Amino acid sequence: MELKKVLKENIDALSYIGSDPTGGMTRLLYSDPWLNAQKYVQKQMEDEGLTTNFDEVGNLFGRVEGTKYPEETIMSGSHIDTVTNGGTLDGQYGVISSYLAIGYLLETYGNPLRSLETVSLAEEEGSRFPTAFWGSKNFINLAKRSDVEDITDPTGTNFVDEMRRQGFDFRDETTPLREDIRSFVEIHIEQGSILEKENLQVGVVNSIVGQRRYTVTLKGEANHAGTTPMNYRKDAVYGFAKISSKTIDRAYEEGDPLVATFGKVDPKPNTVNVVPGEVSFTFDCRHTDGKKLQNFTTEFEKLVKKVADELGLEAEINLWMDEKPIPMDEKVVGKIKNAAESQKVNYKIMHSGAGHDSQVIAPYYPTAMLFVPSINGISHSPEERTDLDDLVVGVQVLASTLYELAYKD
Ligand SMILES: [Zn+2]
Repeated sequence: MELKKVLKENIDALSYIGSDPTGGMTRLLYSDPWLNAQKYVQKQMEDEGLTTNFDEVGNLFGRVEGTKYPEETIMSGSHIDTVTNGGTLDGQYGVISSYLAIGYLLETYGNPLRSLETVSLAEEEGSRFPTAFWGSKNFINLAKRSDVEDITDPTGTNFVDEMRRQGFDFRDETTPLREDIRSFVEIHIEQGSILEKENLQVGVVNSIVGQRRYTVTLKGEANHAGTTPMNYRKDAVYGFAKISSKTIDRAYEEGDPLVATFGKVDPKPNTVNVVPGEVSFTFDCRHTDGKKLQNFTTEFEKLVKKVADELGLEAEINLWMDEKPIPMDEKVVGKIKNAAESQKVNYKIMHSGAGHDSQVIAPYYPTAMLFVPSINGISHSPEERTDLDDLVVGVQVLASTLYELAYKD
């Protein structure tokens, strides 16, 4: 197999399915381009010698039985859906890499001792319907009918109608969790700029960050900007400024891997000559250590209350996302690291600051990820790029990892 050539052909062909006239690629769950992409992947998996099947919801699997331990499965894959106007690598690079890596192994070494399986997961991004990880959550029997029964996309199209239109349906909830899976390995673009800045080809991911997200509203008093002396003001934006500045200073003191972001700020009435009587803002905080994340955000909550008291403001604090950090499996991380070393690839052990299917799967099966560099760290954009040579190295390290896991006794 001429890996470089085949990889490029597969990425180009799959990127054509769902290419969006308004830019990039748009392949939303249960849309026609989404189904066409899954059918293309099915054909490619079969060409690599794999037996394919769809599950009820539209996850696509391709499998070759192990000769000695067929009931032990080594699995690799990622998601086939994209964000609106997304790039050509997020998700599908991991799908293509997994079936090409397995195809390469079959061609080079024959059938494995353990079964090898690739998966093209139906959905991860949450970009059409207000739900995410539909593919991986169905795979590990976590998805609930009630989560999606009443949801629609922005055009008012019903989730269930769309699922059924494409020939899929809810999974049989009595089906037990698969017990054959020994390892899950996902390859993905970094979507950040660390590997590029440090001139590395591969990131071996040992954990996925936990995230806490808040919306905070501070209420004071809107007043005339000219006739209200400083001492008589209840200025909500002043409160926000104190809170954000102190919190960001603390985040710098704390250092990596903590990150703290005030991404959305909405003052009212947002007018040049009125003291802002109200401000709503978001706070997004991430860390690989759950305890440290908890401590930092508790400190943040106390600061909000303290500043509000000092300035005579009312504070509403709403914590609406609280996801724990997910460690990757040490043994699988070790296999990827060994694979990178045996291929003489420059790598680093790193965490993922973004969410991935692997965080859903990791609590059930030994799981780890590897990253390839993203040029300028750009993702979820038509500008998403990785050097073809780096993409090839990623597939080689993945193949070497799968070899260790599936061909060694
Ligand atoms: Zn992704």
